[in-house]
Amino acid sequence: MQKRPIIVAILLAAAALSLRSYWPARREAVFYPMGGIPFRVIAYDRSASEFKRDLEAAKARVEALEGVFNPYRPSSEISRINNDAYSGAVKMSGDMARVLNAAKDWWERSDGAFDITVGPLIRLWKEAGEKGILPSEKQIKDAKVHVGMDNFFPPSTGGKFEIGLGGIAKGYIVDEVVALLKERGVKRGVVDAGGNVLAFGDGKFRFGIQDPTARPGERLIGSVEVPAAALVTSGNYERFVEIGGRKYSHIIDPKTGTPIDNGLEAATVIAYDDRSIDADALATALMVMGRERAVDLLRRERGFAGILVEKKDDKYILWVPETLMEEVHFEEPWADRAKIF
Ligand code: ADP
Ligand code: MG
Repeated sequence: MQKRPIIVAILLAAAALSLRSYWPARREAVFYPMGGIPFRVIAYDRSASEFKRDLEAAKARVEALEGVFNPYRPSSEISRINNDAYSGAVKMSGDMARVLNAAKDWWERSDGAFDITVGPLIRLWKEAGEKGILPSEKQIKDAKVHVGMDNFFPPSTGGKFEIGLGGIAKGYIVDEVVALLKERGVKRGVVDAGGNVLAFGDGKFRFGIQDPTARPGERLIGSVEVPAAALVTSGNYERFVEIGGRKYSHIIDPKTGTPIDNGLEAATVIAYDDRSIDADALATALMVMGRERAVDLLRRERGFAGILVEKKDDKYILWVPETLMEEVHFEEPWADRAKIF
């Protein structure tokens, strides 16, 4: 008879456990596609089994898009395009066409700063980093012959080009995963591909902004609290090549053919149209444009807010739009470095 309370307790615990997995709740998981970047999916009001299937669908979609956009896969569509790039017209998928159209759009809006045809220059500087020797003026000039989006768009005309989509494809992949989650009935959630974040649904979301002077994930400049939006940071600090003890950015100025060196350390873009692809491209574009032109562009563009970190005479300046001052909270010492525009 004394066993009864124990059995009841066990049954209650089992019931609580299964309730927990069937009960709609905030669910979160991470997987590591695209060469190991953390891809985080958060969904609110989902049961464990619903979320399990959400996640499987998300993984499958990312895997399919890697078959389109991963340049390190020889069989991917981007690899195929780049292999054929100098030999004529190419056929492409709808996914590729949509990304190329968005890239063309941002090429225009950024006055040529964002240019996916910098591929040959990216390759040149990457090889230079591996060898530890700076490329020659001639090598840069030769690579630049194939750079310039006006030279090849639309691609169906068979112009010569080689594309690098590192500044925009991740944003598109995030958008696609969010679209898929919405189709599956997820009303609110967050998708974060290594810092390309898109939050959707009601209410506000708090985003942390990485401190470019610290290691990734170590420290924040601060945070913003905004309604559904995309947030992307582009910076020099995470990826660069080192030649002769000097660091060179992985972002290339298409005009000069060299890595950017304009004092901008990081650009964070919030896109209220909740398109991560736009935030991704714009963040890269701002880095190329430098602080003055970046501020001009941000003032011109509606639906976006941008925060810039500039290093000038060994001092940091944080450029913050007036429209964001209410939503943003800075950590020390960044609050004292803020300039409003
Ligand atoms: P991440 O934050 O993922 O490192 P970014 O969004 O900052 O990437 O974009 C950097 C990538 O964009 C580079 O690795 C390169 O592939 C590509 N890229 C470099 N320069 C340009 C440019 N001027 N326009 C468009 N894409 C560029
Ligand atoms: Mg980008």
